[in-house]
Amino acid sequence: MPDLKKIDPKLYSSLCHEQKRQRMHVELIASENFASPNVRKLCGSIFTNKYAEGYPGKRYYSGCQYVDEIERLAIERACRLFHAKYANVQPHSGSSANLAVYRALINNGDTILGMSLDTGGHLTHGYRLSFSGQDYNAITYGVDPITETIDYEAVRQLALKYRPKLIIAGASAYSRFIDFSKFKAIAKEVDALLMVDMAHIAGLVATGLHQNPIDYADVVTSTTHKTLRGPRGGLILTNNEEIIKKINKAIFPGTQGGPLMNIIAAKAEAFYEDLQPEFIDYQKQVIKNAKAFAEEFKKMGYRIVSNGTDNHLFIVDLTSKGINGKEAEVLLDKILITVNKNTIPNDPLPPLKTSGIRLGTPAMTTRGFKEKDFIQIAHIIDKAINSQNNNSILKELKKEVINLTKNYPLP
Ligand code: PLP
Repeated sequence: MPDLKKIDPKLYSSLCHEQKRQRMHVELIASENFASPNVRKLCGSIFTNKYAEGYPGKRYYSGCQYVDEIERLAIERACRLFHAKYANVQPHSGSSANLAVYRALINNGDTILGMSLDTGGHLTHGYRLSFSGQDYNAITYGVDPITETIDYEAVRQLALKYRPKLIIAGASAYSRFIDFSKFKAIAKEVDALLMVDMAHIAGLVATGLHQNPIDYADVVTSTTHKTLRGPRGGLILTNNEEIIKKINKAIFPGTQGGPLMNIIAAKAEAFYEDLQPEFIDYQKQVIKNAKAFAEEFKKMGYRIVSNGTDNHLFIVDLTSKGINGKEAEVLLDKILITVNKNTIPNDPLPPLKTSGIRLGTPAMTTRGFKEKDFIQIAHIIDKAINSQNNNSILKELKKEVINLTKNYPLP
């Protein structure tokens, strides 16, 4: 962007700094990834200029013939990727996808049953400060205190007691396989609808490495920017014709105006990339890396929530290490490793401190990291935690990170 430097040096400087940060840091935030150059270019493409309220063939603006083509492509590819009959590719984000589903399928005040935020659920699954906890009567389930995995019988008992209209499966910080067939059985027993929010695991689902929720849920929501490696945005899928009609209305005009056609073009491209055989290899490596990474922490004496991982992330319990999640986040940022603090089940510390950190492998796997690199990073993190106040060791560790990441360019 040669002009920007001259015209708007402040903005240009932030852009350059962010680019450098992304290049030099080891990105372990489980919900982040590095989109391909084509996906990024489409995000910044001329499609941003176009208003297209409505849906392909039924727009409230003229001149929509080409944006109709790209939205149809995005829908068709999303359906192919997840073996779904219907898709809405317009949600601006995962949260707006969830908002539209609730608006489409239930009424204000109805009971919803979702995973609690502190055991791994998302804000939009019923947290008290989110619309989902304010407009609906939100009941939450957690995890078994011993195994730290979902106790399906406990979910069933809550469903029998509170008779929710909508049950929500899916999570932001849960490292184990989720059995959607069990959720379906519970929903059926209490006559509830089942929504699966697969935002975190969508890439694994797309490549057959996790059970596909479309086979069980009435409606599936997702983001497109996590394991799916697309642009920042949302997605809704269903096999039910009546439900897609309601959802389309709930998105537009219910909760959104003009769709972001540049982002929809980028979603179409990302779905194309996700349909390629290399994407399966990538997702397999994401899981292999997460397992090797988690095992290395265990070997060094760390407790991993639920004792390991089946997917792309895991939570490290730092309780015995004399550091909380927030402190670890700050410490690791100093040596160019980006992680986020995360609660552990029944965390005695408040959400702004937390006892754990969440580590994910999707982003660095995109840059080419293999098991040996994650094992090296596990040791760097351990040394940093054990040398919190030793600036010379931290300096050495930072150098080691710089030497490692320079071999793995950004896409
Ligand atoms: N659902 C889940 C499970 C998530 O993890 C997230 C984001 O972290 C969302 C929904 C919300 O997505 P967005 O940040 O795009 O609103």
